[in-house]
Amino acid sequence: MKTYIVGNWKMNFTVGESSIYLHKLLKRIKPAKGMQIVVAPSPVALQPLSLQTDRKKIRISAQNCWGRDFGAYTGETAIAQLKGIVDYCIIGHSERRHIFGETDKMTKEKVAACIRNGITPILCIGETESERTFGETADVLRDQIVAGLSDVSKEDLKKVIIAYEPVWAISSVKGAKLASPDDIAQSVELIRKYLKSTYGKEAEEIPILFGGSVNPSNAGAYLTIPGVNGLLIGGASLIADQFNDIIEVAKRVRA
Ligand code: PEP
Repeated sequence: MKTYIVGNWKMNFTVGESSIYLHKLLKRIKPAKGMQIVVAPSPVALQPLSLQTDRKKIRISAQNCWGRDFGAYTGETAIAQLKGIVDYCIIGHSERRHIFGETDKMTKEKVAACIRNGITPILCIGETESERTFGETADVLRDQIVAGLSDVSKEDLKKVIIAYEPVWAISSVKGAKLASPDDIAQSVELIRKYLKSTYGKEAEEIPILFGGSVNPSNAGAYLTIPGVNGLLIGGASLIADQFNDIIEVAKRVRA
């Protein structure tokens, strides 16, 4: 299975800044076998960056989309409109769920829209601090997987990526804590178990990424957790040097 290193730039950088960043990264990155590097810029930068990138080195992801292919949805972007521009789309990020009130139904529709349009959804799941405190982690992960993938057939399952992002470990969340490798291993095992119980053997092919305050110093430890197939990186992906250092760590760990 490939190792995915995905940078989520969130609502940062102008189009010009995004382009300079990509230019810098493209110059540094040497394509490595079995490694997929992806960046997720703001919507305004998606098209220019898709024209600028070298897809053998870096693929482009959207950070969100709408679940219908066209229609009266003011302010939204259909993934159908991003065909040929992006290869991936982050779906159900905790900021979408908790700041913008995205529901499981929306997440399910967005995942289905991605599959329908040939774009790989990166479905984010993860428990909040209070859900963790009340021992609800397992239920939350199961519910988010079941809901998010409920319209995905067994044949399409290999087109999905899951990102486990405990909300309490995301660097921009107040009082964020580092997740321990044991915490992550337990959750990743649960996620794989739910996937297998629903889809059977096919579930082994789904990459599971980890995200939550990843930086060049802890990336190696996170990547060696059994069952972790890559990283989704927020804050540290905003600095090209740090993102590149994480890529170098991943190359060493996977060599
Ligand atoms: C994220 O928001 O997806 C994320 C993982 O952010 P950070 O790496 O900053 O914790």
